[in-house]
Amino acid sequence: MQSQAITEFGKPLQLIETPTPTPAGTEILLKVHNAGVCHSDVHIHDGYFDLGGGNKLPMANMKLPHTLGHEIEGEVVAIGPDVKGVSVGQRYAAFPWIGCGKCPACERGEENICVGGPRQLGCSSGVAGGYATHVMVPHAKYLIDYGKTNPALGAAYMCSGLTAFSAMKKIGKLGANDVPAAPLNTLDEVFNDPQVREYGFPVEAEHPVMGKMRLVGSGVELDRTPPAVTLPPPMLGEHTDEILENLGYEKAMIEKLREQGVI
Ligand SMILES: [Zn+2]
Ligand SMILES: [Zn+2]
Repeated sequence: MQSQAITEFGKPLQLIETPTPTPAGTEILLKVHNAGVCHSDVHIHDGYFDLGGGNKLPMANMKLPHTLGHEIEGEVVAIGPDVKGVSVGQRYAAFPWIGCGKCPACERGEENICVGGPRQLGCSSGVAGGYATHVMVPHAKYLIDYGKTNPALGAAYMCSGLTAFSAMKKIGKLGANDVPAAPLNTLDEVFNDPQVREYGFPVEAEHPVMGKMRLVGSGVELDRTPPAVTLPPPMLGEHTDEILENLGYEKAMIEKLREQGVI
């Protein structure tokens, strides 16, 4: 089999050839079809996690060469004698967050936060990931049927997808326990949020240059003088003269300020 491996931190990955392993016991060998690149891969490849403020968390225990890649999708090409319910030719995403199976976290079924010696595909020292023609998965329970999802997306869901999903799950729990928490939305999500729409926050305005645009309405309700958005956002400097005149500046003075490049 071939792997694109780290042979030296911070240096380009190297193509290395090793014998294709034969699965033993409950192991399953996948031929890799898709492997995502995660930001963690970039950090591991650097040889440290940049914690900001000049602080670094070194990958001191990572043995080299190491094959990265923990967002993996592939095809079963060989199975160990104890594998049940999986056949050669089937396609799966590989759940990479594999634990020791013995520590308290693993016993609770939370292998992803294993404290007893994780065996995470592509992330733990000595455990090869998906930047290769083949990857070994220790047990069928780590094979995820991604159904009709695009296989490449199925691979990416194993880290980036799970990260977002687990955050969403936690938000539900925090809310149920009166801890204020909310997801960070994109602008589109903000304007399409049912609550935001119900309050009538998104208002439309016609901009002379940009055409029709959505703006945020007032968050305050006033009975006698209800606030309203009457103007689109101004262009740069559009209201400068008006504001200065209101402040008592003569037209000649405003012209002078313009000539001097002040405004
Ligand atoms: Zn990742
Ligand atoms: Zn464990």
